Amino acid sequence: MTIVRTRPSLIERWREHLPFEADDPDVSLCEGATPLVFAPVISDQVGAEVYFKTEGANPTGSFKDRGMTCAVSAAVRDGAKAVICASTGNTAASAAAYAARAGITCAVIVPEGKIAMGKLAQTLIHGARVVSLKGSFDEGLGLVRKLVEDHPIALVNSLNEYRIEGQKTAAFELLEDLSGDLDLLCIPVGNAGNITSYWRGFREMDAAPRLFGFQAAGAAPLVLGHPVEHPDTVASAIRIGKPVRGDDALTAASESGGSIRIVSDSEILHAYKLMATEEGMFAEPASAASVAGLLKYGADGANRVVCVLTGRGIKDPEVAIAQTEGAVITCPVELGAMETAVLGAPTAASAPAVR
Ligand SMILES: *Cc1c(COP(=O)(O)O)cnc(C)c1O
Repeated sequence: MTIVRTRPSLIERWREHLPFEADDPDVSLCEGATPLVFAPVISDQVGAEVYFKTEGANPTGSFKDRGMTCAVSAAVRDGAKAVICASTGNTAASAAAYAARAGITCAVIVPEGKIAMGKLAQTLIHGARVVSLKGSFDEGLGLVRKLVEDHPIALVNSLNEYRIEGQKTAAFELLEDLSGDLDLLCIPVGNAGNITSYWRGFREMDAAPRLFGFQAAGAAPLVLGHPVEHPDTVASAIRIGKPVRGDDALTAASESGGSIRIVSDSEILHAYKLMATEEGMFAEPASAASVAGLLKYGADGANRVVCVLTGRGIKDPEVAIAQTEGAVITCPVELGAMETAVLGAPTAASAPAVR
């Protein structure tokens, strides 16, 4: 049988830069090579050429797939029969999918009641064992780290080096797509694995755009300089109070001449709606933090900016519905009523004789 592939797997594409040999397992769902999309409205607002790196176009709808193809492939290569992670949702969805693909078991620990509906649905349907912890993401990760010391289960959180290795390929793609011409990268920061990955990827290619990382006001340990006990933000993917890659992230930001700063939930939601209504781009709230930060602090003289849209909007339908509360117009089966419903309330001059 000849298997048709429309494009290489992430590992195949970047193997010479990744810790994999030619005959290693390659657990792939055709991740990576995500579109870079110009953002005309936001470009206008900030006076720079702004692009979205649409990581929601990955197989499970977030950038986590780049790291997960590597983490799960390595786990399989090293004989693991199971993987585990603590997750705010997207790592769980990705781990569940790649474990299913590999035919191994997956367990995920999620904070009770704090996981977005789409992410929970994904994780469940892929057959992962879902453990809802009566505590935070940070507490979950603390326990999982201890648990794997006593069991032959591979930890696939971004502590796992393969995750960082896989995720750095997004930086390679940006340099390729923009012929190396990029001044500034805006990125949300949660557990801080992704900003760490981009910086590694850029450095390996001798590039050094400035990195602007953004944390939500209620979950900004790297800006405050201390852990946040009860992180709180509408952007659940960055609701993290004790980032495991915090030091790496601060190094990445400072080495690049950038920074890590705060955006409020209302700034995140403004950007979230602006992207959806003006740019046709539906990203999840955490992703909107990158745009919110760019709008808030400006491009700071950069000509060309990339905002990383880390995950797809449909993962978190509750936030979208809550933001558009009452917008659905009900209509009886009647033409005049439909005319009013479609065109808006009639004015005196154009009032159709309805009812
Ligand atoms: C995981 C995630 C983040 C945060 O990435 P870190 O590597 O934890 O900093 C941001 N947005 C989305 C959609 C995510 O899934």
